[in-house]
Amino acid sequence: MTASTSSASPLAPEWLEYPADPNALVTKLWASGVQRGDDGQIAVQGLGVSQLAQDHGTPLLVLDEDDFRARARAFRDAFNEAFADLCGGVDVYYAGKSFLCTAAARWVAEEGLRLDTASGGELAAALRAGVDPAHIGLHGNNKSDAEMCRALDAGVGRIVVDSLDELDRLAELAAEAGTVAPVMLRLTPGVHAHTHEFIATAHEDQKFGLSMSGSLAGQAGQAVARALAAESIDLRGLHCHIGSQIFEAEGFGVAARKLLGFLAEIDAEHGVALEELDLGGGHGIAYTAVDTPRPPADIATTLASVVRAACVELRMDCPRISIEPGRAISGPAAFTLYEAGVRKTVTVDGPDGETHPRRYVSVDGGMSDNPRPVLYEADYSVALASRTSSSQAVLSRVVGKHCESGDVLVRDAYLPEDVGRGDLLAVPATGAYCHSLSSNYNMLTRPAVVAVRDGTARVIIRRETEDELFARETGL
Ligand SMILES: *Cc1c(COP(=O)(O)O)cnc(C)c1O
Repeated sequence: MTASTSSASPLAPEWLEYPADPNALVTKLWASGVQRGDDGQIAVQGLGVSQLAQDHGTPLLVLDEDDFRARARAFRDAFNEAFADLCGGVDVYYAGKSFLCTAAARWVAEEGLRLDTASGGELAAALRAGVDPAHIGLHGNNKSDAEMCRALDAGVGRIVVDSLDELDRLAELAAEAGTVAPVMLRLTPGVHAHTHEFIATAHEDQKFGLSMSGSLAGQAGQAVARALAAESIDLRGLHCHIGSQIFEAEGFGVAARKLLGFLAEIDAEHGVALEELDLGGGHGIAYTAVDTPRPPADIATTLASVVRAACVELRMDCPRISIEPGRAISGPAAFTLYEAGVRKTVTVDGPDGETHPRRYVSVDGGMSDNPRPVLYEADYSVALASRTSSSQAVLSRVVGKHCESGDVLVRDAYLPEDVGRGDLLAVPATGAYCHSLSSNYNMLTRPAVVAVRDGTARVIIRRETEDELFARETGL
């Protein structure tokens, strides 16, 4: 076996830097209440991870509630300020699918945000939490009759209609119920953004939304005409969502300009100035040290100037703007705490023609509590959480305990060489799309979620029990 080196491994991806101090935390990856304490442990608002693990077990999703709330407020304040003189302010809808439970729904409402749901279940969570129905949106590309009826019955503020088919069905259901459905139309402006780039295409080849190609004569135009004609539809405005993990505001700006142009065409054709424009979510966060998200204020000011210029050029009043951040609020607010178990080192042929060691550290969770690395090849970071170490950092791969060789949590990270059984590892930025995508694969029970506020930890979702694994089985 090749001796390990106390420097960067040739097996490491180019973006991964060898840490000067492997005990140091990269601030932007962590919730604001997270620090390494004097005892060497990672702590949230002063609560050490060893105590949290002892009290609640591992894997454990540790959510800094104050951080979550602060991020929600940051979006609300930044966008309200930037758009104040344009349209009086912005409605910020938290995208519930990123992390939703009744507690989170209440936090969002308390911080003055609204809530987007994407299914009957998410709608139920919002309603059970007591969120004002007028502040709830319902999304989905294939809403069932039951979901649409429930939304109408509850009196949600908007139903975001995804297709002509759905528009007709919703109009029927609303008419039968003797009510009027408040509708936003989801359009696909041909802008797809991811990280630092966006691409603009004329045609849409995806399941979501009404295509804008052909303009008023196309699908989106037909939907507008039908919605305006339907007595049981109150067409509030247009919506788009151009992607996820977007760092630059340019893509949002191009989409906004396109939709504003379409609003002007609608006004010219139908004599109707639709009142609302939703620019969607997808604001990026830092999963690794090389991710560079912009503060909400930057995105807000850039977007406001695009919208201002477009409205002047098109000689139109600025519609009421809304946005739908999900991960940018919930993602960085939490980390997942795991206990390390089996460790092994393999040797791998490197790009330099030599062999090099790669360390595998197995933990007590995996793709059942965070499937994003498997689903999207998402990169994460990791830190030794229960102590510091003075041993050298070695290239490591943190893997789960599932029966899949693809069950990777952190593909590449430098961890101290002595990390092993019984150590606690923390993976930051797991607040979004981890709990909400979690499963019982291999009959693992889903982790508890602990929220820390004002220095106190509170279980908001308890760990699933073994009995619950069998709760749906008949004939037991
Ligand atoms: C998923 C989604 C969002 C939120 O995306 P994030 O990347 O979590 O900000 C917003 N709007 C719609 C329509 C979505 O589908």
